[in-house]
Amino acid sequence: MTGRDARRIAVIPGDGIGPEVIAQSVRVLAEVARRHELALTFEEGLAGGAALDARGHPIPPETLDLCRRSDAILLGACGGPRWERLPVHLRPEQALFTLRRTLELYANLRPAVVSAPLADASPLRREVVEGTDLLIVRELTGGLYFGAQSRTGEGARAVATDTLPYSAAEIRRVVRRACEIARTRPRRKVTSVDKANVLETSRLWREVATEVGREFPDVALEHMLVDNCALQLVRNPRQFDVVVTENTFGDILSDEAAGVMGTLGLMPSASLGDRPPGLFEPVHGTAPDIAGQGIANPLAAILTGALLLRYGLGCEAPAASIETAVWRALADGCRTTEMGGALGTAAMADAVLARLP
Ligand code: NAD
Repeated sequence: MTGRDARRIAVIPGDGIGPEVIAQSVRVLAEVARRHELALTFEEGLAGGAALDARGHPIPPETLDLCRRSDAILLGACGGPRWERLPVHLRPEQALFTLRRTLELYANLRPAVVSAPLADASPLRREVVEGTDLLIVRELTGGLYFGAQSRTGEGARAVATDTLPYSAAEIRRVVRRACEIARTRPRRKVTSVDKANVLETSRLWREVATEVGREFPDVALEHMLVDNCALQLVRNPRQFDVVVTENTFGDILSDEAAGVMGTLGLMPSASLGDRPPGLFEPVHGTAPDIAGQGIANPLAAILTGALLLRYGLGCEAPAASIETAVWRALADGCRTTEMGGALGTAAMADAVLARLP
């Protein structure tokens, strides 16, 4: 591959432990790219508190430009106590909202995988969780969080209203994306989650999901009510493959899935639109309590690199090799401090690099 064909990765380390874990993720990506003869270039940009300090804005125009001309964006996390008192439009998290909005990143992906060496980190019994390998696809740009809001009256007479709008087009594109992803997974199953017994938007969701399901005869589509899904996630998480749902339900269910895994330090995420770049970030925040100590767990950021390769660049083999190396390191007992071990950030990444297939 020539330099001109190289895939461009915008790297936004962010704040707190962001720069520490993202540096390790880039190290692993660069090594995997070398082994798989994949040309990647990395260019850094500022966002969040770091950008506020340097440029007075949570996401300066040059960072947005960098993101727009890239094939994928790798982001640490933004925010911290230093910037919490700023007006809302200047808070570090605005960087994320701006990126999601301007790049139309409507599908948020969060895998929850419980491999044998991690089963004891889960609050659930090993025989219930071991072997869980599910992916939650959450609609990210519509629904309750973006509907009209109002408030009237005061005191005992106060009334507040949130609205939950969804168009068929918004539902169709995210369910389609979930089905396309399911096609690439061994079980080829999609569970569409709604509250169709109560909500009109959910009835539309179910109608559209059923129509989309007909486009994918090789994918098994089932519908599940959200309350039952919340129960099934703790009772029998292994039954799920791809779970697709609307924004609010997805927000809650994806955190529940994280709880099933038991380790925040291991969860990556991806936010995708119809075209690149997608945004790839670990689920955890900036962890100001441990920032700068070299003890942050880099595995979520390293696994985020695997999602970037798979869903951002369509490169399955190098993505799978990162995941294999991470599971091998965990199986060999490598652990960072918050997991009860003694490895620092760089040493954990060394352990992964040493186990790349
Ligand atoms: P957090 O995820 O940063 O930390 C929660 C706890 O988990 C802390 O004790 C932390 O030390 C630990 N932790 C998190 N990641 C870890 C890792 N990789 N290795 C070891 N331990 C880890 O959540 P918080 O404390 O609620 O938020 C801190 C800041 O991060 C806030 O400013 C918040 O707004 C921001 N935040 C940003 C994002 C994002 O940018 N996507 C997401 C969540 C929180």
